[in-house]
Amino acid sequence: MEARAADLASGRENIPSMLLSLLFPLRCIHCGRPGEQLCPACEDGLASIGPHVCRRCGKPSSRDVSTCDECRGRNLHFTSSRAAYAYRGPARSLVHGLKYSGRRRLARLMAELTCGSDGLTAMCEAATLTFVPMHRTRKFDRGYNQAELYARALAKRLGLCCQALLLKRHPTEPQNRLDSLERKRNLAGSFTLHRKAAAGGRRVVLVDDVYTTGSTVAECARILRQELDADVNVWTFTRTVRR
Ligand SMILES: [Zn+2]
Ligand SMILES: [Zn+2]
Repeated sequence: MEARAADLASGRENIPSMLLSLLFPLRCIHCGRPGEQLCPACEDGLASIGPHVCRRCGKPSSRDVSTCDECRGRNLHFTSSRAAYAYRGPARSLVHGLKYSGRRRLARLMAELTCGSDGLTAMCEAATLTFVPMHRTRKFDRGYNQAELYARALAKRLGLCCQALLLKRHPTEPQNRLDSLERKRNLAGSFTLHRKAAAGGRRVVLVDDVYTTGSTVAECARILRQELDADVNVWTFTRTVRR
């Protein structure tokens, strides 16, 4: 309390955020322990992906391979995709907390945890960051697009530019409830180029929170490549890993 009073007196913390933190003390998003957004034990429990992956889709592998059973024969439209963590345990809780519990400050923590990842650094050279867009009615309901918050927090940490390059034309069914053919049908024509997106060849890193089958990012990459002649790499905070 004394430290908080000192922060307040020195102007480091404003009154509304002080009151909020007193009324609703931070709890670990995974185990609920009070004190931090993610406690040290749960941070240790984050399951990193790698070191060996499929160089194309980022699926963990026993050795580096150029293609795998998940991506072979598929036209994914992006050059490569990488993720920081397996979509389980504390990483899954972070994604859910940001997406469904309104804890938008988690985006900054997620960026802090992942901004130094090898896979991300390699794809970010001279790149513009963008994100998988959300339809405006869904964004209005939630108040924000979690992929955008994460992408913007990452860009800030990396000193890169983050731009909205795509628009979602109509709302779609959540992809996780559909089989592969339904996913394709669901996504067909659902994205378009943002009116402010400037043309010209460039490197783009497309950011999302979860990579599941890659159908959504592949459709976004198709438009970025077709319309902007962009070289697209994909970065996601997590990736589903089938065991
Ligand atoms: Zn915890
Ligand atoms: Zn693969």
